[in-house]
Amino acid sequence: MTNFKDLGLSPAIQQALDELGFVEPSPIQEKAIPELLSGHDVIGQAQTGTGKTAAFGLPLLQYLDPDNDEVQAVVLTPTRELCIQVTQALRSYAEHLDIEIVAVFGGAPIRSQQSQLRSGAHVVVATVGRMMDLMSRRSLVLTAARFVVLDEADEMLDLGFIEDVEKILRMCPSGRQTALFSATMPPPIQKLAEGYMYDPVTVRITPKTLTVDAIQQAFVEVPAREKAARLVEILKIEEPEQAIIFTRTKIGASRLERTLKDKGLDVKALHGDMSQGSRDGVMIAFKDHRVKLLVATDIAARGLDVEHVTHVINFDVPNSSEVYVHRIGRTGRVGRTGRAITFVTPDERDEIGRIERDVNTTIGEWESPEDRLEHAPRPRRRERRERRPREREGEPAEAAEAAADDEGPEADGDGARDGKASKTTKLFVNRGERSGIDEEDLRWALREGAVLPDEAVHDVRVLHRFSFVEVDPDQAERTVEYLDGTKLKGKEIRLEVAKS
Ligand code: AMP
Repeated sequence: MTNFKDLGLSPAIQQALDELGFVEPSPIQEKAIPELLSGHDVIGQAQTGTGKTAAFGLPLLQYLDPDNDEVQAVVLTPTRELCIQVTQALRSYAEHLDIEIVAVFGGAPIRSQQSQLRSGAHVVVATVGRMMDLMSRRSLVLTAARFVVLDEADEMLDLGFIEDVEKILRMCPSGRQTALFSATMPPPIQKLAEGYMYDPVTVRITPKTLTVDAIQQAFVEVPAREKAARLVEILKIEEPEQAIIFTRTKIGASRLERTLKDKGLDVKALHGDMSQGSRDGVMIAFKDHRVKLLVATDIAARGLDVEHVTHVINFDVPNSSEVYVHRIGRTGRVGRTGRAITFVTPDERDEIGRIERDVNTTIGEWESPEDRLEHAPRPRRRERRERRPREREGEPAEAAEAAADDEGPEADGDGARDGKASKTTKLFVNRGERSGIDEEDLRWALREGAVLPDEAVHDVRVLHRFSFVEVDPDQAERTVEYLDGTKLKGKEIRLEVAKS
């Protein structure tokens, strides 16, 4: 195992890392730190959550001369949030160094940032726009910036900042060292690297390609303050054999352990503030099935390999898709189906979509087992009632798209009703990929729910927000009657004959 000392970091930095509970470098740190310390330009392909901030931050801090009051290092970030996050991280790593780190970002009074800069900043962490502004006001000069970091360069590109980034780079000394971190390397970023970096070394961490197919995944949207109560409810309903509950912070882990204990649950925490001895004790107890629930932070749960975890619960949404895969990979082992449930606050709702895209998976909304059982759409007779077209989820734009895509959603829809000899009747289903439904689900519903023989189903097309199925004209009405208003994957589905 490599430790931070082997990487050549100074004792003052090591002490800060010790205090932060960083025991060993993460893979990106292990690769990038020695390169940066030896003076190379580095391209780091890594996402948030991999420890990239320390990967560039530690060499940068080690580089600085506290006695020189000029701006010696600059970190450019695409967003204010990242700017603040990076500043906080750098300040924590510089705890025992006499280094001033100043954050400058838009949406905050420029005057106070100017006065902070006047009082002396060794490192400036900046959003691109505010940096341009401060440079044009001559509040910031970069003639001594020997170390420049572009963090999340692909985000800067997406936000349209690349030209400004180039302008800023041109203002820095040509003998500087440049580090560029980016989750992806689209051509304009490669070009930027070619134009503004000197013989860069690329370090990347290959994302583990774990399959998450065997894992049933769901999310729960819940306001932050109701999370714990909701978790208790869900645990009662889910009845896990054993579960790991991940929290973002050590404090969060101990707080949650206490709450769950107070509710009478069999739970232990595992986090970096505990002594190695007590951590080992908890791990052994969990592996021996003497403890049902484990509340853990990512770092503490490293190396925890448990065969029979039925549930992984992300009490706090993981901050990268890799962490997500890594966490939920702890369930569903050896041919068993595991369940992974991710809590998100309304503000974090978009994270689910991001994970779905990155991991190429579907994460539906959590539902109780009863509701899940209703995946099986049961035939049920019900009063026919008028439904207005607005009940369709598809908006005109998408309907038009679908029409173009689908030679018109209503191409032969009237066949059955007119009594014309149409070969099939097309039915509109108000759910699609977005609701976690795929072709197999619909075929299954038609077979099991509407009791259609396979030969009566001619085509099933799942679009993003809705689907079309084509069935024998003489089966259309029955299909609608049996399936309309039932649930598929916990979501109510509406069916109707597609109208022209
Ligand atoms: P980042 O990818 O830089 O946003 O870092 C993700 C999280 O991992 C942050 O909360 C860091 O404090 C933490 N972290 C970074 N490096 C290490 C390490 N070597 N050991 C433990 N935690 C780390």
